[in-house]
Amino acid sequence: MLKNKDLKNIHIDNQVFIKPEYLIHPFISGNKHRKLKYNILEAKSQKIDLLLTFGGAYSNHIAATAYAGKIYGLKTIGIIRGEELESKINTNPTLKFAQSCGMRFKFVTREAYRNRAKTEFIKQLNSEFGDFYLIPEGGTNDLAIKGCEEILNDEDSEFDFICCSVGTGGTISGLINSSKKHQKVLGFPALKGDFLNQDIRKFATQENWELIDKYHFGGYGKIKPELITFINKFKKDFDITLDPIYTGKMMYGVFDLLDKGFFPKDSKILAIHTGGLQGIEGMNVRLKQKGWPLIK
Ligand SMILES: *Cc1c(COP(=O)(O)O)cnc(C)c1O
Repeated sequence: MLKNKDLKNIHIDNQVFIKPEYLIHPFISGNKHRKLKYNILEAKSQKIDLLLTFGGAYSNHIAATAYAGKIYGLKTIGIIRGEELESKINTNPTLKFAQSCGMRFKFVTREAYRNRAKTEFIKQLNSEFGDFYLIPEGGTNDLAIKGCEEILNDEDSEFDFICCSVGTGGTISGLINSSKKHQKVLGFPALKGDFLNQDIRKFATQENWELIDKYHFGGYGKIKPELITFINKFKKDFDITLDPIYTGKMMYGVFDLLDKGFFPKDSKILAIHTGGLQGIEGMNVRLKQKGWPLIK
């Protein structure tokens, strides 16, 4: 079964440490591993051998589910947003990888994709694919949060701030639940989403958290040259690769807040590197088309 390797925090800057969740596994990296762990155990205990989940063209969750399915002997189906992608599997590194792990796809229109949580749509999928274990988009459900509660360990209680990137809010909810009262958990949304506070409240059992909504760079998957410059400089300075969708934006935010004096002088900050490095190849394809600098 997926093991939680004991990874040591990396001290990168006076006040800042990084929890290297990206080192957990080259393909099921970071928080997606945490989120899948108890779901896979549950599917196995229910004797269901098919996982079905949802995601976009570059989804870390799709890549992680496909790979987990392959190594734990479960079949996988990915419901992918965007019909046009069906003919582009071979030029999309994420889908190509997922397919090579044995994942089958069903491509749906953006309109149909919006119904992904509706009973009617799930029923349709059941009649098409039979019985399956459903994992929601981004992998977020109660069992995923249970997995994310294992990210922090007792030694991490020395930190004053825990910082992480936020997509659906599952990861931060786990961090909040296992944080200590004296700690503050700061979430950096990777997208514009007013719904996030509400979504997190559904899962979080404590109040010691806040979302910092200024570093999404225009929305999910949106980037600016200064973000790429930051990611490449970060790599040069600390020899740590950040992904452009999640961890790059979060670290950019953490360093900007440091510059602005947001963090009290002697406070210690733990930034969770949630992984996502598989997405870089796909992003570089897009950057090349734009004639922008690539992520190194
Ligand atoms: C999915 C993902 C996130 C967001 O996690 P949520 O639990 O959806 O908030 C953050 N970082 C990386 C690298 C991810 O792949």
